[in-house]
Amino acid sequence: MKIAINGCCHGELNTIYSLIPFDTDLLIICGDFQAFRNKGDMEAALIPNKYKRMGDFHDYYTGEREAPVVTIVVGGNHESLSYLQELRYGGWLAPSIYYLGEVGAVWYKGLLIGGVLGIFNWHLFSHPPAASDELPPYTASSVRLVYHTKPRQLAKGMLLPRSQFDIFISHDWPNGIEHYGNLGQLIRTKPYFEPDIANLRLGLPVAMALLQHIRPRYWCSGHMHVMYEAEVDFAAKVNANEIELDMDDEEIPSTRFIAVDKPGRKRKFVSVIEMQPVHAHPSLNSDSLWYYEPMAEINLIVNSQITAPTDVFENISGWSLLEKLRSNLKNQGVARVIPDNFTPVASAEADTLATYPSPQTDAYRKLFGIIA
Ligand code: 5GP
Ligand code: MN
Repeated sequence: MKIAINGCCHGELNTIYSLIPFDTDLLIICGDFQAFRNKGDMEAALIPNKYKRMGDFHDYYTGEREAPVVTIVVGGNHESLSYLQELRYGGWLAPSIYYLGEVGAVWYKGLLIGGVLGIFNWHLFSHPPAASDELPPYTASSVRLVYHTKPRQLAKGMLLPRSQFDIFISHDWPNGIEHYGNLGQLIRTKPYFEPDIANLRLGLPVAMALLQHIRPRYWCSGHMHVMYEAEVDFAAKVNANEIELDMDDEEIPSTRFIAVDKPGRKRKFVSVIEMQPVHAHPSLNSDSLWYYEPMAEINLIVNSQITAPTDVFENISGWSLLEKLRSNLKNQGVARVIPDNFTPVASAEADTLATYPSPQTDAYRKLFGIIA
């Protein structure tokens, strides 16, 4: 399968679709997607005024244009945050354009693909907002709560299995990933990263924790506006002076990291990889996206057992809560196609921010018995 990866979209869907190879099977967009349905949506976005523009998405929302290929999107920091919140468990932003939600996982043609929303802010991670603060009506300061990665997202990701994912996506880079590639060259291209690298501050610690736990075949990111590749090898464990091989045959030995740039002249903003599915899953012979079976149960368990915002954070050092949650997981979801149930609900003309009902999220909650 041919998979095209774009680092950040910044509203430039038309350019990206025009430049991917004609035989692309899947497009992955690693955030800063900017799914503005109308001018009102732009009020729930933190974008400097000089960059604030509607972009191309609204034509895909109304059906004026059609995505030429199935597109999977993860959320970054420059987003239509009100719309992303409406689809917090994932859903169709437009026909064939699927957003993974705050933590999400889907099957496509035998590939298991997951992702996590957001970028890192230490203060907000350690003082997470109450869930109600993440909902509209938004103020300029509350809207940022949507895209800062939260402890409950870490909990959800840590309940995903190891060595099963083909691709995992985070907008922000996994913290420390720069050390697994050509660091010297990165610093020459982006000298202003150096202080953050020296202070272990580049990227998202949640993403590195998830990378080390999930160990997907590929991890894709955007946000830094530079191409970068790295390889995290899990097989070699240094034990005194010996290299000890400490793996089962079934385990993924290393994760290939690919960071891609944003659209612009002389920028490499699409990377293409070839990969073959290794899982026997009903999605192999289907053109639909399928739910990753345990995901709804993970949402349910984390939502119901982590009620106070600090619940995860206070327990995370000993992992005791995660162990408890993990032991409660039955992993018994059945294989289901994600319904092709997109309908536009927002008017293209609205020029003030409004809250819209989300028939897709309502259907998801009803199907899986999720209340929050
Ligand atoms: P955005 O497009 O999300 O506003 O911002 C991305 C810009 O911020 C890029 O130019 C990227 O290089 C820079 N950037 C993102 N994260 C970091 C970081 O942790 N440290 C530094 N020094 N720059 C960052
Ligand atoms: Mn960004």
